[in-house]
Amino acid sequence: MDYAENILGTIGNTPLVKLNTLTKTLPCLVLAKYETFNPGNSVKDRMAVKMIEDAEADGRLKPGGTIIEGTSGNTGMGLALAAIVKGYKMVCVISDKQSKEKMDILRAVGSKVIVCPTNVEPEDPKSYYSTSKRLAEETPNSWYVNQYDNPSNAAAHYESTGPEIWKQTDGKITHFVVGVGTGGTISGVGKYLKEQNPNVKVWGIDTYGSVFKKYHETGIFDENEIYPYITEGIGEDILPKNVDFTVIDGFTKVTDKDAAIYTQKLAKEEGMFLGNSAGAAIKGLLQLKNHFNEDDVVVVLFHDHGSRYVGKMFNDEWMRERGFIEDDVKSASDLIMN
Ligand code: PMP
Repeated sequence: MDYAENILGTIGNTPLVKLNTLTKTLPCLVLAKYETFNPGNSVKDRMAVKMIEDAEADGRLKPGGTIIEGTSGNTGMGLALAAIVKGYKMVCVISDKQSKEKMDILRAVGSKVIVCPTNVEPEDPKSYYSTSKRLAEETPNSWYVNQYDNPSNAAAHYESTGPEIWKQTDGKITHFVVGVGTGGTISGVGKYLKEQNPNVKVWGIDTYGSVFKKYHETGIFDENEIYPYITEGIGEDILPKNVDFTVIDGFTKVTDKDAAIYTQKLAKEEGMFLGNSAGAAIKGLLQLKNHFNEDDVVVVLFHDHGSRYVGKMFNDEWMRERGFIEDDVKSASDLIMN
């Protein structure tokens, strides 16, 4: 018989899938590390379990404890699945710009969800950073995960995601492209790949309204770079300890509009029903076109699933309201076609 001991045993070993349509103008092979095959439908399952197991091992998390995290949803989902299997309570503190689907999904897997305003400074007592820290201080037998600064986050990707990509490409990968939020994915995978072959180039996808690109290029934390944006999952107004700038060769920024449009394009032109950061990642990869040659093998990592965005990037009304698409119905036959 061939089965997993519990749902956590199905995490990882996700497929690599070739992109065929959106990448037609590129000279190289482009492969997607397709993380929605994880049981929580995102790459975050990997680091969620690793962070919990490391905290169990050194006594930060004790039997029957409460796990508290500020999470945009995917980490919360991974933590919630592991909490169920391992017998912990789960509280997710989430910002109000996150999709309703993400909040509903967290509640569906037994997590308490606390919603905080997005457009306040991280130091503001109402921010989700401050709220999660305060809750952890006030709740007995609780553990504050802090995915931003928790080294087990990047370590999970160094131990699993990186080695999988190296093995699946038979060591032929030349470029790794990925959206950056906490920095865990890019730093863990980037470190592993560069240890195997220092010539592998690692590119981060950032968003307008986030500090990463400017900081990487100048070493300056520029507050003028910070403003509200719509893209979900990537970009920050802080510098998480998990971002290891030394393994990153460069960043490119993608607009909210482009990220949303390319999220739709991945679904409609590749059959890849994925989240908003996947749209940003593929658009960013296309912006890097001049860096790729014929023999290159470019791997782009797609973090999460499209179901979490049906009310947003996959809703044409929502897209129209933000000026991301225009009504371009030209004829009756267009209407029938669509
Ligand atoms: N995309 C999505 C949808 C995410 O939830 C996250 C995590 N915030 C990221 C990208 C960025 O990944 P990381 O935190 O590992 O940098």
